[in-house]
Amino acid sequence: MSTRASDIRCEIAIVGGGIVGAACAAEFAAEGCRVVVLERGIAAGEATSAGMGHLVVLDDSPAQLALTVYARRLWHALLPQLPADAEVDVCGTLWVAESDEEMALVERKRDVLAGGGVAAEVLAVDELRRAEPQLRAGLAGGLRVPDDAVIYPPTVTRLLLARAADAGAQLRTRVAVRHVEGDGRVHLADGSRVQADLVLNAAGTGAPALSPAAPIRPRKGHLVITDRYPGWVHHQLIELGYLRSTQAAAGESVAFNIQPRRTGQLLIGSSRQFDAETSDVEMRVVAKMVQRAREYLPGVEALSALRIWTGFRAATPDKLPLIGPSPEQPRVWLAAGHEGLGITTCLATARLLRDRWRGHASEIDAAPYLPQRFTAAGGSLA
Ligand SMILES: Cc1cc2nc3c(=O)[nH]c(=O)nc-3n(C[C@H](O)[C@H](O)[C@H](O)COP(=O)(O)OP(=O)(O)OC[C@H]3O[C@@H](n4cnc5c(N)ncnc54)[C@H](O)[C@@H]3O)c2cc1C
Repeated sequence: MSTRASDIRCEIAIVGGGIVGAACAAEFAAEGCRVVVLERGIAAGEATSAGMGHLVVLDDSPAQLALTVYARRLWHALLPQLPADAEVDVCGTLWVAESDEEMALVERKRDVLAGGGVAAEVLAVDELRRAEPQLRAGLAGGLRVPDDAVIYPPTVTRLLLARAADAGAQLRTRVAVRHVEGDGRVHLADGSRVQADLVLNAAGTGAPALSPAAPIRPRKGHLVITDRYPGWVHHQLIELGYLRSTQAAAGESVAFNIQPRRTGQLLIGSSRQFDAETSDVEMRVVAKMVQRAREYLPGVEALSALRIWTGFRAATPDKLPLIGPSPEQPRVWLAAGHEGLGITTCLATARLLRDRWRGHASEIDAAPYLPQRFTAAGGSLA
């Protein structure tokens, strides 16, 4: 039901009820702040419900490693408290190497992860086959990261919002924010206003409509979900070349990435496309994705697919999120641009923002994620 948010005052107004906005709402409300969440649709209705729900440590850059390691630590404190319908599975990630060249990268990755305090184990080819018998013969080996996990993001988002509400936060759904002013005034599409001490722009791909200099571009992804095949694979399996796909600055890429769900279903990804004009499923892209999966798991061909969907990741030029003050709007902070890692990094984002608001030191250096990094480089944000 639509609610009219007529001229509310609050300490923190959060625009966006995806998992990032929800994590921020829970964190700030637990601190005793008066929080209002403003969501134009339903909670978790956009990227959050399209995502895979993989909680993964990635090491594309030292800053990405630091953020994902920190975030995964925060998740491990929360996971035991989540209900069954959050579909928590600490299944681990298995990075699969196709060739001896990639095995050399596996060893390097193990060392980089060890430097970040992350346990990982190199698997020789026979160990890989024992761990995942569906993988084809002729692969070179792999790297198992046992503490990576999987959740069901929509349920967890609703739970974080419920926690925020229990601590006094208000959630307003079906209220679109039309405009945000630098002094903390938020103008809603129904003509009413919210006056906040601080506005958190957690609007995902919608963030630049409110903070125009935020350098975010939508990046489309496709996912396929299958019927139930319990035990078909045991880990989240990803090709070692996955980071190449995430790094591609332009065009279209696919990478092998398959996830076992608690339900026994398998989620098959993933594709990345800039400049996609619509959210329509493109069977040409799906065919490339499934072909890539078949190159690792020949039996995938025999599985029945139930549904295919797309979603848009909020991508930044340096693959790191924008966490902190907007350089153009004094009372607006950004919590956006999480690309393919927003499920993983939402709790860390919320904690960094809370620390900044409270003037506390953070557990990790927040500088690499500050939006001002794009202006400090001398260029325009856009
Ligand atoms: C195919 C795919 C697979 C993925 N897999 C993973 C994964 O395995 N692990 C991982 O960590 N991440 C993954 N991601 C990324 C992850 O889904 C996102 O990074 C994360 O959901 C972003 O959350 P968010 O809250 O920032 O954005 P969203 O969920 O998009 O939420 C933003 C909200 O803001 C609202 N909004 C926007 N504009 C306005 C406005 N003007 N007024 C009011 N409300 C507004 C929207 O309605 C929306 O609900 C994946 C993404 C895709 C597309």
